[in-house]
Amino acid sequence: MSWKDFPKVELHMHLEGAAPPAFVRGLAQEKNIDLTGVFDERGNYTFRDFVHFLQVYEAATQVLKTPEDYGRLTLAVLEQCAENGVIYAESFLSPDFCGGRDVTAWKEYLHAMQEAADQAEAQMGITLRGIVTCIRHFGPEKARETALCAAETAGDWITGFGMGGDEGMGRQGDFAWAFDCAREAGLRLTTHAGEFGGPESVRQAIEDLKVERIGHGVRAIEDPALVDILAEREIVLEVCPGSNVVLGLYPRFAAHPIAKLREAGVKVTVSTDDPPFFNTTMTREYEELERAFGWGAEDFAELNRIAIEAAFCDEGTRKRIKQRLEQA
Ligand SMILES: [Zn+2]
Repeated sequence: MSWKDFPKVELHMHLEGAAPPAFVRGLAQEKNIDLTGVFDERGNYTFRDFVHFLQVYEAATQVLKTPEDYGRLTLAVLEQCAENGVIYAESFLSPDFCGGRDVTAWKEYLHAMQEAADQAEAQMGITLRGIVTCIRHFGPEKARETALCAAETAGDWITGFGMGGDEGMGRQGDFAWAFDCAREAGLRLTTHAGEFGGPESVRQAIEDLKVERIGHGVRAIEDPALVDILAEREIVLEVCPGSNVVLGLYPRFAAHPIAKLREAGVKVTVSTDDPPFFNTTMTREYEELERAFGWGAEDFAELNRIAIEAAFCDEGTRKRIKQRLEQA
């Protein structure tokens, strides 16, 4: 069977990282922007390793300049998600790319993205919520400005705050001010950890930033005591197996620790991260997990229940999405 129409909840996706290559090429053409080195000869994104991936990612993002571009991007991304059965998604949004962390400019970008999301909801039945995300390798000072943008726009639609970027830069605790600011504004918290950083980066995320979800977190598997802490405290992992395989953390899906983490009682969910960069979709993630671990409809339904319980949305939205999952 194909998993394409199986209803899905996705918690970890970067909006620019989900940009379909054809969409980015089209915008580059309209604006006469040179994207040499971004695509391979077949038109897919190309990169050597994680640091190069971040460079290509930021190069591709250069074509996205105006709020209107971001509105079009949001619609193009949600079309792809809806085609793969996603009924609720959360996306990381970056004021760094949307107006250079200026609050007034950020509000204009946000307005365009929200309008596009409303249109997608009406036309395709997919619900989106935004998580404002600071970029770790831009440093703690810029993260503060990003947090202020998040705090200014916290509400029903911007519901979370997070951090992505190069885990090699600094420590989680260097960003505590930004996370405290976001928490005080009522935002729910997640951060990337335990992807390229080891288990200690996951401990730091929990202790120094007090997040309730972790982006990736899979390298917690290297520290059994930490696995127990994740299970006991019900910290949810936003696991992106295809991303981890392409970036070389694990040689193939069957070697990925998602099944072991789940067996140890950790709350795991499945997402795509930056799907066209990693040649994946939610459908493909399910297919690969079925092939690697024999997971079926009951397993995936459980992962989706965990995901919607951990979603950073209001209770009314959660109830509505849960009903749709149960009906399926
Ligand atoms: Zn990510």
